[in-house]
Amino acid sequence: MKMTREEEEIRLSRRRLLRGDLSGARAPRRPPWALGEARFVAACTRCDDCVRACPEAILRRGSGGFPEVDFARAGCTFCGECVRVCRPGALSGQEPDEAWPWRARVSGDCLSQRGVVCRACGDGCEARAIRFRLQTGGRARIELDTTLCNGCGACLSVCPTGAIVLESPPGD
Ligand code: SF4
Ligand code: SF4
Ligand code: SF4
Repeated sequence: MKMTREEEEIRLSRRRLLRGDLSGARAPRRPPWALGEARFVAACTRCDDCVRACPEAILRRGSGGFPEVDFARAGCTFCGECVRVCRPGALSGQEPDEAWPWRARVSGDCLSQRGVVCRACGDGCEARAIRFRLQTGGRARIELDTTLCNGCGACLSVCPTGAIVLESPPGD
């Protein structure tokens, strides 16, 4: 039997509760300019139009049939195609800086910090948010300017060690 929207929202909330995700911080990454999670789930008809429209193919059908972003292949160019084709208005906006709150952070095993030459994330960052500060022993430390970063995810998709995460700024 098909669930109503309210039942679907309750089901998603329960699932987060069971995962210990009371705040919804680990909620699925929705496409850019998505309404707040509850409003998004209520508005999205799971038509897949945004998934088909994304020229970068970074949107996929996720849990419950709702669209999610997958940065494994590429970053978001903020082209706005997903918004343009979203008839119910579950996605709404234009400015890259307002697409989502996430910003990049180096959290894991960065090659350049071990003295292995790698600049893939910096080369892929159009916003020029990533700089490398040279250190002794051929190592380089990443300096990531979160005021320039717009969370496009391009750096994630090219990092060979998966050292970069996207997360909401503290207090967001
Ligand atoms: S803004 Fe463009 S690249 Fe980004 S998710 Fe939407 S369609 Fe894909
Ligand atoms: S792409 Fe990854 S491993 Fe390479 S410098 Fe950037 S964070 Fe480090
Ligand atoms: S997420 Fe931020 S740091 Fe990474 S490529 Fe995009 S703008 Fe640059």
